[in-house]
Amino acid sequence: MQSTMMNYPLTLAHILDRAGRLFGASEIVSRLPDKSLHRYRYRDFRRRTLALGGALQAAGLRQGDRVATLMWNHYAHLEAYFAIPCAGGVLHTLNLRLHPDDIAYIAGHAGDRFLIVDDVLLPLYEKFKDKAGFERVIVVPLSGSKVAAGRDDYEQFIAGAPALKAPQLDENDAAGMCYTSGTTGKPKGVVYSHRSLVLHSLACGLGDTLGLMQSDTLCPVVPMFHVNAWGLPFTGVMVGCRLVLPGPHLDAASLLDLYQSERVTITAGVPTIWMSILQALEKNPAQWKLTPGMRMIVGGAAASEAMIRAFDRLDLRVLHAWGMTETTPLGTTGYLKHHLQALPGDERYAYRNKQGIPAPFVEVRAMADNEEAPWDGKTLGELQVRGPWIAASYYRLDAEADKWTADGWFRTGDVVTIDAEGYVKITDRTKDLIKSGGEWISSLDLENALAGHPAVHEAAVIAVPHPKWDERPLAVIVLKPGTTVGEQELRDYLAPRFAKFWLPDAFAFAAEIPRTSTGKMMKAKLREQFKNWEWT
Ligand code: ADP
Repeated sequence: MQSTMMNYPLTLAHILDRAGRLFGASEIVSRLPDKSLHRYRYRDFRRRTLALGGALQAAGLRQGDRVATLMWNHYAHLEAYFAIPCAGGVLHTLNLRLHPDDIAYIAGHAGDRFLIVDDVLLPLYEKFKDKAGFERVIVVPLSGSKVAAGRDDYEQFIAGAPALKAPQLDENDAAGMCYTSGTTGKPKGVVYSHRSLVLHSLACGLGDTLGLMQSDTLCPVVPMFHVNAWGLPFTGVMVGCRLVLPGPHLDAASLLDLYQSERVTITAGVPTIWMSILQALEKNPAQWKLTPGMRMIVGGAAASEAMIRAFDRLDLRVLHAWGMTETTPLGTTGYLKHHLQALPGDERYAYRNKQGIPAPFVEVRAMADNEEAPWDGKTLGELQVRGPWIAASYYRLDAEADKWTADGWFRTGDVVTIDAEGYVKITDRTKDLIKSGGEWISSLDLENALAGHPAVHEAAVIAVPHPKWDERPLAVIVLKPGTTVGEQELRDYLAPRFAKFWLPDAFAFAAEIPRTSTGKMMKAKLREQFKNWEWT
């Protein structure tokens, strides 16, 4: 039997149109490089976005063409987020923290035709422009500088642009693309469809995922060049909430000032950001007055239990989430089901420290030796996922086809347990697991526990080759300023919580842990550094 429902396309064009009509008065605040605040409203945003779309079409944009952005989080980037896909193009956000050669490789691999770039990022562009072949470069004069000949000034480009000719968009058309940050190999491109971004936005709005509402003031600290700032710009505009875009100043004091002055209610970023914010708040407790209960979405790497507890004491609510470039990224969120909220503190935190339960329409399974591991909270397996916003392939990269199983699941490369309640707990990336005497040791569990020691700022636990046990764990420790601690004290601290063979045999003290452009520990680099460790 045929349904009698309309076949209405799920496209970003609807989100933009709706936002302009219904939420014209909602404010968008952007902090500029000189720290001044740029303010305008959704109605201005929609008008300028349509102008940018029309200008790109007049410049020759054809359906499916890629337009790259090299920009911080601010109003013009938001305009590009909607203008490019609504004009029929594909938004390709370039990660400005990558090496210039990698940026050039990624832009070339994606086949980007045009580039929109912040004037303050032109020095970076100069480093790779000869290797990238953009036909047209449009410069946003964020710092008011004059745009050089041969390039377009963004403001002039959109002024007097012809009206956007709304293309016939199919919901399965490409709307955006992102490359993985390459923590575990060469960057791989993922192409999002309008449909996947719309469904992802609807899912992110749900109360039990990220719970965005029109009454919120949302500040995405996660860069708009990192998995579309976790889709938050799309979801935020869909619900019509006030947006605060932090620009290039992402140090703790600058962010805290912004949270306070703009009364932010929900924000998002990687754990390194929250670690520095926590330090600043603990050092100067009276300096900032934040919105009580402000929600902080933490993802991209594991949030430690110590960090979640510390923010709770400050009446700031950490929401732990897991995702990947390949999953748009919403996969799981660590909210507590109703009956778990009554658990005693330690058990409650054990749940909150997990990465959470899958969002609606995301299916998860843990696979061990080609069999689905039971949901018992103990059996380790590789996390595999499927759903309407999970990638089905990489862009022009057939060599990676083995990332998908024969029965159509995406292999995440994360090693997990899933418990009876459906909570997923990441124990490692496949490549980071430690195998000692044939038994697996979770580096994440050890790091998480070490982060609870009062002298430890952060810890990375890695596998180091061992003549007898194959591999043994070594912990690299960064101490809090002005503290000291001995190896034995750290081992004693861990001892009650872990099997004896889990305890790191060696501790190395370092000034910092090397990190990737998206805040993940570079364990491969640490393993290289410590591979010749002399075991005693
Ligand atoms: P890349 O794969 O290049 O590092 P992604 O941003 O796509 O870039 O990284 C996704 C990976 O980040 C996941 O596979 C997982 O290993 C890690 N990750 C993301 N969120 C969490 C989390 N909450 N806890 C632990 N690890 C996480």
